[in-house]
Amino acid sequence: MDQLFYIKTFGCQMNKHDSGFISQILLNKGYKQTDSIDDAHIILINTCTVRQKAEEKALTLIGRLAILKRKKPYMITGVIGCVAQEKGVDLFKRFPYLDLVLGPRNIYHIDEFLYKIDKERKQISCLDLTCEFTSFPKYNGYLNGKVKSFIKIMEGCDNFCSYCIVPFVRGREISLTAKQIIDEAKYLVSQGIKEITLIGQNVNSYNAKNEALPTFPGLLKQLDSIAGLKRLRFTTSHPKDISDELIGSFGELESLCPHIHLPVQSGSDNLLKLMNRGYTRDKYLGLIEHLRRTRPDITVTSDIIVGFPGETEKDFEDSLRLIEEIEFDNLFSFKYSDRPGTKALQLPGRIGEKEKQRRLSILQERQREITLRKNKLLEGTIQEILVEGPGKRGDDQLTGRTLGNKVVNFSSKVNLKGQLVKVNIIKGFQNSLLGEL
Ligand code: SF4
Repeated sequence: MDQLFYIKTFGCQMNKHDSGFISQILLNKGYKQTDSIDDAHIILINTCTVRQKAEEKALTLIGRLAILKRKKPYMITGVIGCVAQEKGVDLFKRFPYLDLVLGPRNIYHIDEFLYKIDKERKQISCLDLTCEFTSFPKYNGYLNGKVKSFIKIMEGCDNFCSYCIVPFVRGREISLTAKQIIDEAKYLVSQGIKEITLIGQNVNSYNAKNEALPTFPGLLKQLDSIAGLKRLRFTTSHPKDISDELIGSFGELESLCPHIHLPVQSGSDNLLKLMNRGYTRDKYLGLIEHLRRTRPDITVTSDIIVGFPGETEKDFEDSLRLIEEIEFDNLFSFKYSDRPGTKALQLPGRIGEKEKQRRLSILQERQREITLRKNKLLEGTIQEILVEGPGKRGDDQLTGRTLGNKVVNFSSKVNLKGQLVKVNIIKGFQNSLLGEL
């Protein structure tokens, strides 16, 4: 009988990528993947702990596994990812029916852990933060029907922003070799992938620990020369590590899409200092100005935290003024939440939940107006779209993204999936654009 595995993924693109990695390892070993948690023989929960809410969601689901395990005692249940790293073997105490607790750096040999659990019927944990990447697993057919894919080029973070748990659960920065990345990109293109997004906690510091190796802009240049790769993107960038050379890449590299996600986190210098971000408001504004001078059509998105300890009304207004001055194309905004082990835990000036929510609502409303205004500015322009497949509406609607990463829906009687097409934007909405071929 086929061994069916099920993976539930919480959190960011890195976690989604890790889940894809695990799927391919297990498919290569003869397991089969299922979308039904009830049918699975192996259940893996890939968790996120960046915000308290994400962690709570994962813990609730892990709690529900008790019922399934009672029905099928031979089922294997595992928690992987950032909550696994943070809570460690304490998870076995709270959820005694768990079989596996695996940190994000230890997923590369998951098949061996599962085999051992199956044979020896004992609980296993592995939380080693010094493990290196292994090469990419390749399961034949995994990319069928996909036009976009991701390559994780680096792992971990050395920045220790005072609110962030990532350096504690993903360890110190390590980078994949340029050869591994180029080989993977060539393979993806040979499988029909047209757009690749390079991901990492801080892609700008790719190879930062070894000056003899290619820098991030050098890597982009090598990737840009791959025949058949139509679009190249990357995320996430740290403002303190953006070099002039990287900004210059937006003006030089044909495949590099004019979009950057550059988390600012606050518009107040006081808070940026408390957050240990390593740049000032003026430095950030200068970067945006430089990016827009180099590539006038570049779209800029960002992250902001409200209610960080010590955030005064004036600090909050500085953030509001910043988003109005820059006019981000989109903004991901969050209420601050305490994370274990971080420096921000010790800071005075806690902001109450109600006040955090008030500030978040004001900020989000302001950004909604900006996003809509910017999307409406695109009405009447011609945009190049990479067609990803059918739109949500069904019938003959197709969907894709502009070079600036905005979603466009349009009608076509012909299936254009995987093709670059030109569309005229006829309407700009809050979250998408409507176009016609
Ligand atoms: S750069 Fe800061 S916010 Fe981003 S992962 Fe590293 S510590 Fe966290």
